[in-house]
Amino acid sequence: MTIYSGPVYQMAERQFHLVADHLNIPIDERERLLRPKRGITLAVPIQMDDGSTTVFDGFRVQHHLTMGPTKGGTRFAPAVDMGEVAALATWMSWKCALVGLPYGGAKGGVACDPRALSRRELESLSRRYMQEMIPFVGVHIDVMAPDLGTNEQTMAWFMDTYSMHAGHTTPEIVTGKPVSVGGTKGRREATGLGVVHLVARALTHLGMRADASTAIVQGFGNVGSIAALELSRLGVRILGVSDEYVAIFDPNGFDVEELIRHMEEHGSLQSCELGQRVTQEQLLTSNCDILVPAAVERVIDEGNAAKLSCRILAEAANGPTTPEADLILSERDEPVFVIPDILCNSGGVIVSYFEWLQGLHQENWDEEEILRKLRHKLDESFDEVMARAKRENISTRFAALSIGIEKVWSAKKQRGLFP
Ligand code: NAD
Repeated sequence: MTIYSGPVYQMAERQFHLVADHLNIPIDERERLLRPKRGITLAVPIQMDDGSTTVFDGFRVQHHLTMGPTKGGTRFAPAVDMGEVAALATWMSWKCALVGLPYGGAKGGVACDPRALSRRELESLSRRYMQEMIPFVGVHIDVMAPDLGTNEQTMAWFMDTYSMHAGHTTPEIVTGKPVSVGGTKGRREATGLGVVHLVARALTHLGMRADASTAIVQGFGNVGSIAALELSRLGVRILGVSDEYVAIFDPNGFDVEELIRHMEEHGSLQSCELGQRVTQEQLLTSNCDILVPAAVERVIDEGNAAKLSCRILAEAANGPTTPEADLILSERDEPVFVIPDILCNSGGVIVSYFEWLQGLHQENWDEEEILRKLRHKLDESFDEVMARAKRENISTRFAALSIGIEKVWSAKKQRGLFP
C-alpha cells in the first residue's frame, strides 16, 4: 500500500515488473526506477460564481529527474487521483526515453468536472492550481502541457500566472499554449497526426491499404477528432466515434468534418443525429480494421479483449489496455497489431519538446520543419520497436517499454547513487 495505490497505478506497476523480469533488472534496483520521485497534493480553493468557496483536490507527480526536467500533461476530470497521475507520469517517463527526449515523466490534475464550471470558474481554478504549483515547477524542473479536459486556453492561463510571478514572460514553462503567446505551430494537431502517421506505418507493415480500410475512434476530443480527420484524409472510412456521452455508428462512414463542426457548435456529440446510437462496448467491439481508443485508461480489459474485431489497435489514449487484455490479444489466432500507447501518442510530447526548445532559444520554426522532424522521430522509434520485437520475439508493447525502461535504468546506473 502506497500513496499511489489504485487500479491505474497497479496496472503501471504490473507492466513494469513484467518488463523488468524480461530485462533481468535486479529486484533491489527496481524500486528506484519505478517509485515516483515526487508526489504533490494541493488544496485548490476558488470562489464560485454564486459567491461560495469550493476547495478542489489537485495533484502532480514527477516521476524521475535523472535525464532532465519532468514533462507531462495536466488533466481536469472528476476521477483524477494520486494513483492515476502517478501511473500516467510513469508511462510518460518510458515514453520520453523511448523517443529520445531529455525528460522524465510527470502528470498532474484537478479532480473536477470542467464542463460543470463556468469559464470564469475554470480560469480561477487554472490560475490557482498553477499558483500553488509554483514552488515545484520551472522551465528546467517540470513543464506542463494539456491533457484530458484542458486545452490551449488552460495553458495560456498557466503561463500568464507563472509569468506574473516571475516578473517576465516565461512561455517555456508550459507547452501546448496558443501560438499567439509562444506556442508552436503543429502542437494542437501533433498527437493525432502522430497516431495516424504510425497507423500508416502499421498498414504498410501488414500489407493493407488505407483507402480499403475502416476505423473506429473512441473519444472525440483533441486527439480523437484529429486522428479521425487525418485517417479520413488517407481514405479510411470512419465507421464509429464516441465521446463520454454517446457512441454513434454508420456502416457507410461518417463525414468527419461534419462531426467536428457539430462538436464546435454543441461541445459534445450528444445531440448529433448522424448514424445510429450504440453502446461504448458495442463501438469498441464492432468489426473494423483500425481501432483507436482516444479517451481514458483501461477501456480494453479481460471482459472485452476477446471480442475486439480489429487488425490494428492504435492506442492514442494512455493506458487503454490492461495487461490481462494484452495477453488475450496476443494469444488470438490472428493477433491484433498493437501500436502501444507510449509510441502511438508520442507525437504530442515530441512537438511539445520542439515548443520548449523554441521558447528557450526564442526561435520560431516553420510548420513544415516541425512536421518533418516529428515524422523522423516517429519513424526512428517505430523502426526501433519493430526491430526489438522481432529480435527478442516479444510484443510491440514489451519492445517499446523495454527500450524506454532500459534507457532510464542505464542513465541511473551511469549517474550513480547520490551521495
Ligand atoms: P480531450 O479532453 O480533448 O478529449 C477526450 C475525449 O474523450 C472527449 O471526447 C471526451 O468526451 C471523451 N471521453 C472521456 N471519457 C470517456 C469515456 N469514459 N468513454 C468515452 N469517451 C470518453 O482529451 P485529449 O487531449 O484528446 O486526450 C485523450 C487521450 O489522449 C487521453 O488518454 C490523454 O492522456 C491522451 N493523450 C493526449 C495528448 C494530447 O496532446 N492532448 C497527448 C498524449 C496522450
